[in-house]
Amino acid sequence: MGVNVNTEFLDLAERFLHCSVGSIPFIYVGLPVGANPRKESTWKPLLFSLSRKLGVWRNSQGRKIAWVSWTKVCRPKSCGGLGIRDFHDVNLALLGSRPNGFTGVSLWWKDVSLLGDSTVTCSYWFSDAMKEGWLFQVSEQCLDLVGDMGSWVQGEWNWDFRWKRELSLVEFDLAHDLMKVVTQSPTLGVEDSWVLKYDPSGRFSVRSAYLTLTGPKVVSDPNPLLSRVWKSWDPLKVIVFSWKLLQDRVATRQNLLRRQVIRDISDSFCAFCGVSVESVDHLFTSCDFIFPVWYKLVRWLGFQFVSPNSIIGLFEGFLGFSVNRKFRLGCVLIWHAAVWSIWNSLYDLIFARGTVSIDTLVEKVKLSSWKWLLAKNPGNPCSFYEWEVQLVMYWSR
Ligand SMILES: [Zn+2]
Repeated sequence: MGVNVNTEFLDLAERFLHCSVGSIPFIYVGLPVGANPRKESTWKPLLFSLSRKLGVWRNSQGRKIAWVSWTKVCRPKSCGGLGIRDFHDVNLALLGSRPNGFTGVSLWWKDVSLLGDSTVTCSYWFSDAMKEGWLFQVSEQCLDLVGDMGSWVQGEWNWDFRWKRELSLVEFDLAHDLMKVVTQSPTLGVEDSWVLKYDPSGRFSVRSAYLTLTGPKVVSDPNPLLSRVWKSWDPLKVIVFSWKLLQDRVATRQNLLRRQVIRDISDSFCAFCGVSVESVDHLFTSCDFIFPVWYKLVRWLGFQFVSPNSIIGLFEGFLGFSVNRKFRLGCVLIWHAAVWSIWNSLYDLIFARGTVSIDTLVEKVKLSSWKWLLAKNPGNPCSFYEWEVQLVMYWSR
């Protein structure tokens, strides 16, 4: 590209340097260079390619597939969720932390009507039925807050009720009763302050407000098995995949058929064996191609087992091997590495037209689990030989 250079010189330079003449704007590492950054049209190709890279499965109506419901995603990890915070509830909790976020502040008569106990019923002054005719109607302070209903004089609270007119005899009696109850109130003598009744300390925090908002949804459907995927040395993306897998929320051909991404049932057969429908349970446990992988891995761990026919049963089996904490972490590490490697081999097979063998798959699991172990345990090194050949000794070290 020449700047303030004539065409002949540019042609000469092109031949001499063995390159080609370019012009502005041009694309460099995917970004437009020299184009007007304020124009929408400059960024459209970039947005298009980004959306293609972030491509998601869509069904026949072109709708995106949400693999896991938002409610499940927002559950805490201890309750089998992904621990993502619900933006709506976070926003509400954050709003609560600002003074003007409190809405619907209680009016004095609402608070006063809550005073007393069963023996001294006083709420009738302000109950819906009574407020039509009695004290509420004649009060000048219907919309005032409790704090505006009196003042502190030498450490003592003095109520200051104001009425629109002189009280009748009946109203005077009612006002007298009211005064008796409000002066007995145990809250008198306490400074006014905001109290969050859902927090034992009474203090407001975004966390306690968030937990209050999400609380009822959280306890509805805890899944103890799902919560056990998180204590692991694997990378987060691997754990999240495993978490989705245990809920049958990954793009197997059976799931794609159910969601109408593929229409023909003949396209839904297992990519490894081609015999059965590619469900999560088949692909990861009972498939004739995959079963030997698990067999070899379990032998490597020093056990023998009959592979269950479900992914949940297999995961439970892996958790059952553990004899101590370290070994349990190791079992979960290898489990995650195995399902991740199987899934990636499937993708290689389909999209990269690669080939997969049982031995390479087992090697992949051993290698990736070893790398992830080292990354999380820098102070406790282990050679690949030790990991591969003396795994059981490593646990007892
Ligand atoms: Zn199969």
